[in-house]
Amino acid sequence: MRKKLVAGNWKMNKTYQDSKKLIKSIGNNLDEDTLSKIDVVICPPFTSLSRARKLTNKSKINIGAQNMYYENDGAYTGEISASMLKALGCKYVILGHSERRQYFSETDFTINLKLKKAIENELISIVCVGESLEQRENKIQNQIVKEQLTNCLTAIDRKDFNKIVIAYEPVWAIGTGKTATPEQANQMHIFIRETIEKLYNQDVSANIKILYGGSVNENNSQELFNQSDIDGGLIGGASLKPESFVKIILSAIN
Ligand code: PEP
Repeated sequence: MRKKLVAGNWKMNKTYQDSKKLIKSIGNNLDEDTLSKIDVVICPPFTSLSRARKLTNKSKINIGAQNMYYENDGAYTGEISASMLKALGCKYVILGHSERRQYFSETDFTINLKLKKAIENELISIVCVGESLEQRENKIQNQIVKEQLTNCLTAIDRKDFNKIVIAYEPVWAIGTGKTATPEQANQMHIFIRETIEKLYNQDVSANIKILYGGSVNENNSQELFNQSDIDGGLIGGASLKPESFVKIILSAIN
């Protein structure tokens, strides 16, 4: 059985100082028993990663970054490498978030390069895919997601799938308050699993975690997480509110 995973994407929020309070209030409300039943990941901005690692060192809460670059090192001003994240104690990295695609010109091609580098450095990648509103209205969401998956996973070996999580995030649901219905989301998750089965095999597709992301909150999370193929969530706005984030985590194990 796939263990559920809930990841909080803080985006560009919280200073180094502010992050302490938020991490502590999340950590203080999750006991060891809960954390043995579910994988929890906090993804603060780069500037708070080391503080987050220190504050969670004694617990099973994992730390992830929101992005990285695909080269090892060198003259890439402003970028952060996979080995830097690893050295800081990060276990996860989010790759190809739709905001990175939209505002920073990320493409499936660069996401694929990043994924290869993350695997090389033993980071677990949360690879984001999802269609825009226009694409859904034109009923081409499956075609778009299949294309994103195929491109992002190009030349990835099946043995490395234990270091990959997929996040289905319809762009029209991110930060908009509009959530995909549990059925809509599950249908896409089933389609993603079928696509991965065709690209790899049944074993890979049955074991890969597929998260849903897009306006998940404490009121809709349980129904989403109860769906057959939804293995947890990538949470944006609600991960900045400790009470909501903890409730969302708890709803995944109830
Ligand atoms: C996200 O940032 O990945 C996200 C899903 O945001 P929100 O939960 O705010 O829609």
